[in-house]
Amino acid sequence: MTEVDFDVVQIRKDFPILNREVNGKPLVYLDNAATSQTPQQVINAIVDYYQNYNANIHRGVHALSQEATDKYEQARQKIQQHFNAAKVHEIIFTSGTTHGINLVANGFSSLLQKGDEVLVSAMEHHSNIVPWQMLCERTGAILKVIPMNEQGELVMETYQNLLSSKTKLVFCNHISNALGTINPIEEIINAAHEVGAAVLIDGAQAAPHIKADVQALDVDFYVVSAHKICGPTGVGMLYGKEEWLKKLPPYQGGGEMIAEVTFEKTTYAELPHKFEAGTPNICGGIAFGAALDYMNTIGFEAIAAYEHQLLDYATTELSKIDGLKIYGTAQNKTSVISFNIEGVHPYDIGTILDKLGIAVRTGHHCAQPIMDFYKIPGTVRASFCFYNTKEEVDALVAGVERAKNMLV
Ligand code: PLP
Repeated sequence: MTEVDFDVVQIRKDFPILNREVNGKPLVYLDNAATSQTPQQVINAIVDYYQNYNANIHRGVHALSQEATDKYEQARQKIQQHFNAAKVHEIIFTSGTTHGINLVANGFSSLLQKGDEVLVSAMEHHSNIVPWQMLCERTGAILKVIPMNEQGELVMETYQNLLSSKTKLVFCNHISNALGTINPIEEIINAAHEVGAAVLIDGAQAAPHIKADVQALDVDFYVVSAHKICGPTGVGMLYGKEEWLKKLPPYQGGGEMIAEVTFEKTTYAELPHKFEAGTPNICGGIAFGAALDYMNTIGFEAIAAYEHQLLDYATTELSKIDGLKIYGTAQNKTSVISFNIEGVHPYDIGTILDKLGIAVRTGHHCAQPIMDFYKIPGTVRASFCFYNTKEEVDALVAGVERAKNMLV
């Protein structure tokens, strides 16, 4: 294995939580696909907000309110630059990926008709399935599924055949949270546009690994959560092309999203505020910006190269364990390994690993259709971040060996 030049020892110093112990053992945190850890730089941004300029935004003439508004809007600009959106008002702050998807699905209620078709990939998180099912129930539109193969890759030929003039929307994740597959979203977007369908890409799992360029992708909607990118929970963003955001009706009503309110008729604010009813997660938005600054300082190319090295090493070492099966063996994948040991429930492996201080996720990973496809109740999922080390992979492999010896 060629070693990538990456100063992981230095980087780990930014994450105070990595020094703690769990069950008397050093923490080995391998549940990054669920939530990443928070560097001191982001914690500092949170503390700075509450210590120095906590106030409501867009409303007050006083200094604190102005400062908070400026910092919040600067964060929106950072997000715009990071994802290369053409306009800053194409960035809508949300509470996370789930909120962004629901906002779009709700908006399409008034744009779809009975018999229209919407396509979803077979490897989605429940938050990119259920809102569309609810949309179909409201409108009479038909949900069709783009299938996947045994390796955990989408069957693109079938996708092409499913597309027709009836297709109005396609939604797919950029990277699967349960398998790590990187989906060919350029191809998915281009093909959908050829039949006039809009595309929403769930970037929740891609954002920690890939810097998506929404203009180059020509994607209509792209959604992410800050807590997967070293930011806080409860905040995220929806990117939408201006033309689509103008077409969609507001999602929630309340303060901030209005131009004028009378009992006879209310008019709505311009973008992005039309979609931002109520007091937002101000501190969270600012910390989201700080998290992007942090990740960009390390650099996404360096992150991807290092994480790939960890993925290759972990795949090789785990594969040496007799009876261990990895689910999701796509050519193009990121640092997520889902696996089971023959005859053992994933929950039991997860529980033993936890006793050893190793945090992994067990279960269906909010992607039950994938588990149904493989006819399994769930998997053990180890997901690696740029602050993980080769030694931590060794600890995981030793822990799995130990669990296997106890359970088989
Ligand atoms: N989509 C994918 C692919 C995810 O991995 C997740 C979270 O695990 C979500 C959507 C939902 O994200 P959130 O719970 O932050 O809204």
